[in-house]
Amino acid sequence: MQRAQADGAYEMWKEVLRRADVQWIHDEVKASGLRGRGGANFPTAIKWESLPDNGLPRHLVINGDEGEPSTFKDRVLLEGDPHALVEGVCIEAYRIGSHRAFIYLRGEFALGADRVQQAINEARAAGFVGTNILGSGFDLEIVVHRGAGAYICGEESALIESLEGKRGMPRIKPPLPIHVGLYSQPTVVNNVETVCTITHILKMGGAEYAKLGVNRSTGTRLAAISGHVKQPGVYELEFGMTLRDIIFGIAGGIRDDKQLKFFLPGGASFQWLINSDEHLDQVYDIDDISAKLGTTLGSGAIMVYDQDTDPLLVAWRLAKFYAHESCGKCTPCREGSGWIEKVLYRMSHGLGRPNDMDALLDISAGISPDVMKAPFTQTTICPLGPSPVSAVASLQKWFRAEVEAACGTEAQA
Ligand code: SF4
Repeated sequence: MQRAQADGAYEMWKEVLRRADVQWIHDEVKASGLRGRGGANFPTAIKWESLPDNGLPRHLVINGDEGEPSTFKDRVLLEGDPHALVEGVCIEAYRIGSHRAFIYLRGEFALGADRVQQAINEARAAGFVGTNILGSGFDLEIVVHRGAGAYICGEESALIESLEGKRGMPRIKPPLPIHVGLYSQPTVVNNVETVCTITHILKMGGAEYAKLGVNRSTGTRLAAISGHVKQPGVYELEFGMTLRDIIFGIAGGIRDDKQLKFFLPGGASFQWLINSDEHLDQVYDIDDISAKLGTTLGSGAIMVYDQDTDPLLVAWRLAKFYAHESCGKCTPCREGSGWIEKVLYRMSHGLGRPNDMDALLDISAGISPDVMKAPFTQTTICPLGPSPVSAVASLQKWFRAEVEAACGTEAQA
């Protein structure tokens, strides 16, 4: 606590209470252009504006259920700077008028849970959390809740179900949690990094923050870079860099000086890119990469693979994860993810059959119709359904000839 305070922790929280000006927080965050860092990219201030004024209690829920393969950037904040999260929670709760905030952490984050709880205890002892905080009249309690390890609880409505003590399954939307959320009351769900960023925006001013980045992708974001790079790790990236700068500059290039084969710029759930000038010169911009290349920056993970990697094995391993994590609520995902995994298993283990690629595309179309043209369509309740389809579409787009060679199939376009 002392070290965190020496670095300025809780100074902005004190300033917020001194100013007692909710509109100031709102205006600065809106001017910053901050968008959620969990993957959905929704503007934070617009989400706040959507809160209904219906007299019901409002809740703040922090989504720390970071469970996607190769996504580990929130973990760094939870374990390494828990007071930054607690201060961000205080400020956001004050903005939305919430007196009870919940930090939901994936079950495996035992160390993070301990450190965040310790930070809350220290903040309470110092008077930053609790009743009548620093004489302001504002009350706030923060609850840490560990999930049981289900990836789907990172989906906000499944997370809320889990918090309510039910099985973690996504709700059908609408209504959105902002209107009918925790305990059927208005609820703001924000990602860990998003909440931590609010404090910095207030410190530097929203307009200054918006000068960082590019277009509507303002500021910086944490990226977890993994795979066959020389320097894997979590990096704070400014939007607007090229993917080449990130992979070959910041991450040091491909280990053992091998060739890059392909990479996943937005984590395990979205379509892959390959070693081409068009892809490497793509700017790290949420909207631009989606419009131009049909993929997204997702959860902030960048997974990099060298020339020796079998893309079928990567696709199978990702499909195995999603088949395992499907909650089973809707048929296309429950059945389709399992079949994708089974077909990819045989393809990647020397047992591929003629037309297996076609079979994969056919199964995928039941989950994400027209996936090759419009990758973000879905027949499922939540976005987990199309996640294994991204790998199938990527195989078809970039590795069809290699798949045919491996499986002896004649895949159809
Ligand atoms: Fe559950 Fe999959 Fe349907 Fe999402 S898409 S609700 S994870 S079965």
